[in-house]
Amino acid sequence: RTVFVNGEYLPESEGKISIFDRGFLFADGVYEVSAVINGKLVDYAAHMERLGRSLKELRMAWPCTRDELDVMHAELIKRNALTEGIIYMQVTRGAADRTFNFPKGEVTPTLIAFTQAMSLVSNPNAVTGIKVITTPDLRWARRDIKTVMLLAPALGKQEAYEKGAQEAWMVEDGFVTEGTSSNAYIVKDGKVITRHLSNEILAGCTRRALMRLAKEEGVEIIERKFTVEEALAADEAFLTSASQFVMPIVEIDGKRIGGGQPGPVVRKLRELFLKEATA
Ligand code: PLP
Repeated sequence: RTVFVNGEYLPESEGKISIFDRGFLFADGVYEVSAVINGKLVDYAAHMERLGRSLKELRMAWPCTRDELDVMHAELIKRNALTEGIIYMQVTRGAADRTFNFPKGEVTPTLIAFTQAMSLVSNPNAVTGIKVITTPDLRWARRDIKTVMLLAPALGKQEAYEKGAQEAWMVEDGFVTEGTSSNAYIVKDGKVITRHLSNEILAGCTRRALMRLAKEEGVEIIERKFTVEEALAADEAFLTSASQFVMPIVEIDGKRIGGGQPGPVVRKLRELFLKEATA
């Protein structure tokens, strides 16, 4: 694999960063994951817009111009002959002597990116649906910023796997916030319910695309928080993320949802999303 490190394209074994990098020492960095289908990026503009917001919120400099980021993504697709999978990119505040406060003077941000080939469109999980568990949301108060501080989500995902599930829905004050790496939805009486945007969840790019597609299709989406009890009594449940698109959920905490089969609303929404993404 060819990876990108601070302006250079290198074999992955040669991609290295400093032990003083603030991303490594403080999780002082942000990231984006964009899907690639048929060699083309999905929702890329939205990902770059969110990257700009994450950088701004953390008072971090852009590592290069937007045009240069576009070239980096295109080059990684080309050099790795990537037809389907993801591109991961990360920006940190850079390497400097270890102090909690920002380093004095000019520090060059660190920019790295790599590809992962994956089968996304014909993901077998989309046919059967996946299982989720619920777990307390242990994250900080600015989940709207896509930082690399991912320990709580990693613990949640591990707990899910150990319980035979594929994702964990995080819960705060009895309400579902979101998945460890996805936004959360339920369907009741044909209407989709998903948590409203705030500092408590990440504004998913797939969520945004889904809202637009649902509106065009006349599917009503209500933006409000929902409880675990409501989810357990829902007709359908699903999640969205850049790499999973729209993924049906058929079990929550061991309880079957919608008879244990992906329901009509989620199947329709996934179809709409894929139709646009593969066009
Ligand atoms: N929420 C969290 C916490 C995430 O980490 C992610 C993506 O990784 C999402 C939601 C979904 O966002 P997107 O659709 O932009 O991938």
